[in-house]
Amino acid sequence: MYVDSHCHLSFPELRARLDEILAEMRAAEVAAALCICTAMEEFELVRDLAAAHPNLWASVGVHPDTEGMTEPSLEDLCERARQPRVVAIGETGLDYYRLEGRSVADMAWQRERFRVHIRAGRALDLPLVIHTRSASEDTLAILREEGGGASRGVFHCFTESMAVARAALDLGFHVSFSGILTFKTAADLREVARYVPLDRCLIETDSPYLAPVPHRGKTNTPAWVPLVARQIAELKGLTPEAVGQATRENFEKLFGVEVPAPGVPS
Ligand SMILES: [Zn+2]
Ligand SMILES: [Zn+2]
Repeated sequence: MYVDSHCHLSFPELRARLDEILAEMRAAEVAAALCICTAMEEFELVRDLAAAHPNLWASVGVHPDTEGMTEPSLEDLCERARQPRVVAIGETGLDYYRLEGRSVADMAWQRERFRVHIRAGRALDLPLVIHTRSASEDTLAILREEGGGASRGVFHCFTESMAVARAALDLGFHVSFSGILTFKTAADLREVARYVPLDRCLIETDSPYLAPVPHRGKTNTPAWVPLVARQIAELKGLTPEAVGQATRENFEKLFGVEVPAPGVPS
């Protein structure tokens, strides 16, 4: 039994064939998934997916790459995060990968947005879903400043160095691995996955993106998250089932949910 800790079922290409995807998940023993919000305008869609299916949950947050849409206040985030089936704040964080001619100094708005999310997480004691790309130093520094050791959550779709993994673990965060772990070029990342203790690991698809080998390039779905578990199992000398069970238990503890037993109609 597996759980996908990060997917975007509200995106049109997945939403359009939701019933099919839920059936594929059941067939692949993927018992549940967390649907991640990337814009305030998207929130109701994400929440309604979770409200309609006992094995889906929702987050609320605005992705660091989201521009030209509603900038959330602390109150906006908290009001939505208090709604049923909303179990996390995010995805939030920093992304300096697509600066598009801007300097890091120009990205102060991203850092401010990130701070607002961290404050919401602390106000409601909810875990953060952290997105960090080409910005790990600032991400960690802001987490330390704002979180003060009281924030918790997960560094999602982890692609950073061993040192960043260590820092995330030291802050009490979990580390989530995606299909990138199966890519031929990801040898360094596989070393990181070998290092991260199993009781701090999560698995995810980040679907519709990042389909794992042997589906690379296709539209990803939560049904392929066992391929990530299989890769971690290989690295740690475990069975995929053991990785599935451990990451499900980590998911339940971190997000305060209980994954329904298979066979419960969704
Ligand atoms: Zn992300
Ligand atoms: Zn995402």
